[in-house]
Amino acid sequence: MSKKNENINFKVINFIKKLYKNKKFIPLHEPKFIGNEKKYLNECIKSTFVSTVGKFVSEFEYEIAKFTGSRFAVATTNGTSALHISLILAGCNRYSEVITQPLTFVATANAISYCNAEPVFIDVDRDTMGLSPSSLRFFLEKNTIKKNNQCINKKTKKVIKACLPMHSYGHPCRIKEIKKICDEYNIFLIEDAAESLGSLYKNKHTGTFGKLGIISFNGNKIITAGGGGCIITNDKVLAKKAKHLTTTSKVSHNWEFNHDKIGFNYRMPNINAALLLAQLEKINDFIKNKRNLAEKYQAFFKSINYNFFKEPKDCKSNYWLNCIILKNKRQKEKFLEQTNSNGVMTRPTWILMNKLPMYKDAECTDLKNSRWLEDRIVNIPSSVTL
Ligand SMILES: *Cc1c(COP(=O)(O)O)cnc(C)c1O
Repeated sequence: MSKKNENINFKVINFIKKLYKNKKFIPLHEPKFIGNEKKYLNECIKSTFVSTVGKFVSEFEYEIAKFTGSRFAVATTNGTSALHISLILAGCNRYSEVITQPLTFVATANAISYCNAEPVFIDVDRDTMGLSPSSLRFFLEKNTIKKNNQCINKKTKKVIKACLPMHSYGHPCRIKEIKKICDEYNIFLIEDAAESLGSLYKNKHTGTFGKLGIISFNGNKIITAGGGGCIITNDKVLAKKAKHLTTTSKVSHNWEFNHDKIGFNYRMPNINAALLLAQLEKINDFIKNKRNLAEKYQAFFKSINYNFFKEPKDCKSNYWLNCIILKNKRQKEKFLEQTNSNGVMTRPTWILMNKLPMYKDAECTDLKNSRWLEDRIVNIPSSVTL
C-alpha cells in the first residue's frame, strides 16, 4: 500500500468524522428515536398488553401494508422467522431446492435449511449486488427439465421450488426480470427485502413483486422494533396461512386451545410493535436524510477517485448501508484497518455463503461477480443524521 493511499484514507476518515459532528466513535448504523416511541411504549405498558395480544400489532400491519403498497402484512418476531414461514408456504421440504444468491446475510440461506431444503447459489450482478437474471436463466436452461409443471434439477432430481433474491444494502435487484423467469419455470418467488424498506424498483416497492416478501426490523435496519420482521403479500390466502402458522396454528376460539397443525411462536409482541409503529411514522424522513447523506458521499468519493456504489438504473434506493467498491482486496483490508483503528466503524461485506462450512458442498454457478464484490465492498457509516 502506497503512502498516497494511506493519506487518502485519512481524508475519508476526516470527511466521515465531520459528517457525524466529530463524535469519538462513529458506528456503522444506529437507530434514531425522535418520534412517538416513548408515548406508544408507555401506552402499551399501561395497557398491560405487552405480549401476544394488543392493538399495536394490527395497527402496524395495516400501516406497513399501506406504506409498501401490498394488500396484507403479517408481523413476526424477526426477519429470519418471516423467511422461514415464507419458504414453508412455498412448499419447501427435503425434496426441494431454493435458488438464492451467495452474497447475502446468513439468515437467507439458514431459513432454507430450516425447511430441510437445499440452497443453490447463483451469481449476482455487479451493478445491483443482487441475483443476476441472466445467470439464473443460464442455470435453469442448462440444468433443469420441466415435469408435471415442476422445475426439476436434472442432477439431483429435486424440485426447484422457490427463488429467494435479496435486495443488497437496500439497492433493488433486477426483480422484474427475475419474476418473469420464475413465472416461466413455475418457481415460487420470495423477496428477501430485509434491508430494502422504502426502496423502489420502477416505482414499485421491493418485496411486492414476488408472491411473498419479507422485511426485517432488527436493531441495525432502517427502522427497528428491537427485533422484528414481517411478511408482505397481495395474496389473501397466503396472508391468512402466514398469520396462522406464526401464531402456533391456533384455531380461533374464545377459550379452547385447539391447534390444527404444527405451528410456530413467531408473532411479534405488542410492545415491539408499539416501538415500531412510532419508527414507521418517521420512515420518510429517514429515507430523505439517508439519500441526502448518500449524495454527499457520492460527491466526496468522486473527488478522491473512489468508487461509491450508486442506486441501480430505474431504482430508488433507501441507501440503508452505503458501500464503496475498493480496487482490490489489499486496498480493502488497509481501508478497514485504518478506519476502524481511528474511531470510524466500517465493515467488509459478508463472506460468501458457499464458503461457510455448512454450505461448502452446495450447488453453485460460476460466482465471479460475487467473488469480485466480496473482495471489494466496504460498508461505511450510514446512520440517519437528524
Ligand atoms: C437482517 C437480515 C435478515 C434477517 O433479519 P433478522 O430480523 O435479523 O432475523 C435476513 N436477510 C437479510 C439480507 C438481512 O439483512
